[in-house]
Amino acid sequence: MARILITSALPYINGIKHLGNLVGSQLPADLYARYMRARGHEVMFICATDEHGTPAELAAAKAGQPVPEYCAELHEVQKRLAEGFGLSFDHFGRSSSVRNRDLTQHFAVRLHENGYIEPVAEKQIYSKADGRFLPDRYIEGTCPNCGYERARGDQCENCTIQLTPRELINPRSALSGATDLEVRETRHLHLRQSLLKDDIDAWIDSRTDWPVLTTSIAKKWLHDGDGLQDRGITRDLDWGVPAQFAGAPWTGMEGKVFYVWFDAPIEYISATAEWADAHGLGEDAWRRWWRTDAGAHDVTYVQFMGKDNVPFHTLSFPATLMGSGEPWKRVDYIKSFNYLNYDGGQFSTSQGRGVFMDDALEILPADYWRWWLLSHAPENADSEFTWENFQASVNKDLADVLGNFVSRVTKFCRSKFGEAVPEGGEAGPREAALIAELESRIRAYEDHMEAMALRKAAFELRSVWVAGNEYLQEAAPWSAFKEDPARAAAIIRVSLNLARLYAVLSQPFIPDASARMMAALHCADWRWPQSPASALEVLAPGHAFTVPDVLFRKITDDERAAWQDRFSGTRA
Ligand SMILES: [Zn+2]
Repeated sequence: MARILITSALPYINGIKHLGNLVGSQLPADLYARYMRARGHEVMFICATDEHGTPAELAAAKAGQPVPEYCAELHEVQKRLAEGFGLSFDHFGRSSSVRNRDLTQHFAVRLHENGYIEPVAEKQIYSKADGRFLPDRYIEGTCPNCGYERARGDQCENCTIQLTPRELINPRSALSGATDLEVRETRHLHLRQSLLKDDIDAWIDSRTDWPVLTTSIAKKWLHDGDGLQDRGITRDLDWGVPAQFAGAPWTGMEGKVFYVWFDAPIEYISATAEWADAHGLGEDAWRRWWRTDAGAHDVTYVQFMGKDNVPFHTLSFPATLMGSGEPWKRVDYIKSFNYLNYDGGQFSTSQGRGVFMDDALEILPADYWRWWLLSHAPENADSEFTWENFQASVNKDLADVLGNFVSRVTKFCRSKFGEAVPEGGEAGPREAALIAELESRIRAYEDHMEAMALRKAAFELRSVWVAGNEYLQEAAPWSAFKEDPARAAAIIRVSLNLARLYAVLSQPFIPDASARMMAALHCADWRWPQSPASALEVLAPGHAFTVPDVLFRKITDDERAAWQDRFSGTRA
């Protein structure tokens, strides 16, 4: 039995995520966690909301709520949606937790003691009316490029040009509208990542099994231009982990907080501590996952994320861990994803274009989405969601192949033998051929799941479902029943056991449907098949079952057209 630590990139707190976000980290991480648990491994699966930073402050202001209240509310919304999609986190934490505050401050102290933190004087815009320094996004003005009057200090939304606040014409505070802005000197803490460049480079070189997408992004940041740059880790904001605190080895950071990119990945560790707290466990319980001097030496740590998150996870977060000089567990494998596009364009949160997690669950059960998203994951290139493809995939794979098999077998058995596994008859060459095919396909499925090759794994799983349909078609128990009822009984006994095998194998992809199949089969034996032959004998003659309700319904053309229209970019 192995010990596997799995983290998903943290969804940002401000609003509901779309399906492109979901398939870029949380959903594939869940697939892997479920699979590894099913294989009997000890799994710790961690995620959390990323709650600090300017966007949270602005979103709260827009909602007319205090920031902590806004974040608490949105955390609950995201948590409920994660549960709705069957995301099986061991803990879904919050980066605004006390645990994360303490640990972030701890890392900052350690980094300072080891010479990796340096206070740097900078010039920044100060608003006398607001009584504070303004982050770039908090400054508005006229775009020097296109004349748009509500351009932000970091970017013009209208023409997308990157800006600095000093380029804006007639700059004003986005908070109060005040125009009496002035440039003042302020001090910030910088993380001296450049000193760790060679260590990080050597570490990445040692990770020979990482996907090219991951290493190429990391290498680009390490070597392009002037190479890995030092970065500011503090900001002039109210909402965040305070940068001046009791025991801080510096002064003058009052009213400043750590930058969100610094504290967010630390939350992976803090959330594991939050998990221990929530279960009344001691410090050892979480440290054995994260400290190589406290039991984590035999942990395999896998991270899931979209490609835009790779630099932080290959460079900045490792720099924090290495620079601390403490034996923290570092990532063993990074599974990164390209983007999912939406119906001829992009998902857009600001334009409300595409399907968001709450809408998705309102129109169809989670398994429909899980199956499509995971079997079309943007692994090697961007992929695209279209309603035609989604409809075809659900109707064919889930309804015609899997759902239909379970329905035919259970209904035929009920009508000819009653609602129990029939006895009599013997396996023959057809069953031997079926077992041989299952043997090779299940091994291939396992290999792809181990390798996190989602699309290939989905293809093998579907092939396993197809094999059952073909077996049933060829063995034709409805014909056999007329001549040789015992032979028909043997075929149905194998088929009912196949249905159980499908529930076990499919559980990482479609957990709700698998649970319903097992409930209908009155079975709680979720053991992974050691061999297909023995797996097809788990349900013994006389074992009672119930014909289940329709497992998957088909999507009609009318529904498809209506949804296509509804999600084209008008979400409130
Ligand atoms: Zn512009």
